[in-house]
Amino acid sequence: MVSITVYGGVCTIGGNKILLEDGDARLFFDFGTDYKVRAQYYEEYLKPRSGAGLRDVLEMGLLPPLEGLYREDLLPPGDPWQRYRSRPGYRGLDHVDGVLVSHAHLDHTGAMSFLRPDIPVFASTMTGVIAKAVQDSGKTSDFESEVCYVTPRVVEGDRLTTAPWQRVSYVRRPFRFADMQEPSPEVISFWNRAPGTGRRMGREELSASGGQVGGLPIRHFPVDHSVYGASAWAVETSRGWVVYTGDLRLHGARGQETQRFVAAARALRPRLLLCEGTRATEEPAEASTPVHEDDVRQSALEEVRTEDGLVIADFGARNIDRLITFHHIAEATDRLLVILAKDAYLLDAMHLASAGVPSLAECSHIRIFYDMKAKRDAWEERVWKAHHDKKITPQEAAADLDRLILCFSFWDVGKLIDLNPRGGKYIYSSSEAYTEEQMIDMDRLRNWLQHFKMTGMGLPYRRDDGSFAVEHPTLHASGHAPGSDLVTVVKEIAPEVLIPIHTEHPEYFAEALRGEPIDIRVPKYGVPIVID
Ligand SMILES: [Zn+2]
Repeated sequence: MVSITVYGGVCTIGGNKILLEDGDARLFFDFGTDYKVRAQYYEEYLKPRSGAGLRDVLEMGLLPPLEGLYREDLLPPGDPWQRYRSRPGYRGLDHVDGVLVSHAHLDHTGAMSFLRPDIPVFASTMTGVIAKAVQDSGKTSDFESEVCYVTPRVVEGDRLTTAPWQRVSYVRRPFRFADMQEPSPEVISFWNRAPGTGRRMGREELSASGGQVGGLPIRHFPVDHSVYGASAWAVETSRGWVVYTGDLRLHGARGQETQRFVAAARALRPRLLLCEGTRATEEPAEASTPVHEDDVRQSALEEVRTEDGLVIADFGARNIDRLITFHHIAEATDRLLVILAKDAYLLDAMHLASAGVPSLAECSHIRIFYDMKAKRDAWEERVWKAHHDKKITPQEAAADLDRLILCFSFWDVGKLIDLNPRGGKYIYSSSEAYTEEQMIDMDRLRNWLQHFKMTGMGLPYRRDDGSFAVEHPTLHASGHAPGSDLVTVVKEIAPEVLIPIHTEHPEYFAEALRGEPIDIRVPKYGVPIVID
């Protein structure tokens, strides 16, 4: 018997946790953080307590109650599961053969932090490398972002604390790279390196995927999304192929990869397709004109060209297409693109995984912001050692503001006090999935911009009817296919069964695919969908 049970990404965008079972073989497609549930209870300064281990995240429903699936070192003393055995969706799950990760966005990988560290993780090399670089340069004590390696916890009194670094190494998750026969020596040495000078990295070796998980053949397909390394997956079960799209788009720079995946998935004559539906919407007019990266380049170039003062470009650094776009704009307007040290670290790591990512050393128009800080970790020292010629201090930047494009986000606006701009443009070129909380941050951002007399471009706002919109929509190209493209993808792949996930509008598929011989099953949290 084959079954699919969805524990995250049910009628919501993100937090995908999809269990596929075929006899004794079990695997998950993604294991991401559900930010919507998390935001119901937590925010930046109210977080699940790491000293409480799994207790907080289980109690507040941030993790499905699957006993046996999670890290034992995070179990508080006593019988913590007692409270959760009557929860909807509870079951014992003592062995899982692997997690097939679609891409390095935390709504697809974040909750892996809590998984038992012996569960193999299947991913593209790029996804693994991005996940490690982000973890290395983040807060190593943050137990919600231990995607690649974990800091073991030990019981101290009635709480958990990190094991002594002198004696206990990081425990690495066994990553299996799906697109590399043998990981290159550069990737291996990056992978083996600890982020700091204290705790050592564990010994778990990297390897290739071997093309199967739990005895089931698997296939990996590169697809285009707003992060490099995004993958779709197919698993051959005893009832036919099951295909998982991850997040994807056709309208991006690498749309052909998505096209190739669609053709290959069709050739498998899949029994079942799990398809994302971020932009599945009942308003086709809005969705039918996707903004392309070239549109972003043109509009942003125009905005930079007509600005005499400072320009700030706000986009996620993992979005290399956007970074390349702004690097071109910097060259065309004879400005310098200033990135943060953690972005430089990420870029260097990504270059190891693919020559398609520009080498920082060869980007003549990039500088790295030398932030004021008391202490620099080992990963950051490496950046300065490799790129000392690209260093720009806040004082140097302040003296040259009209020659710069600063890659800052809302979280960096505090640095503006050192730069003291008077005027300029803040180009918001980032995610389109807005939340109420982000809107409050946007109001704060507007206050900062007003203080420094800067003009905000492309900022999201609340419409009178409560929905969200963006001021200059051509300053951002979405990472997701609009509804009409998704319908094309599903029709092409032509599965027998379709399960819409990662969407607030699963009913859209039923409407748009009316008359097609496709059985659409809308998942319910924790309820198996059986394929026989
Ligand atoms: Zn994504």
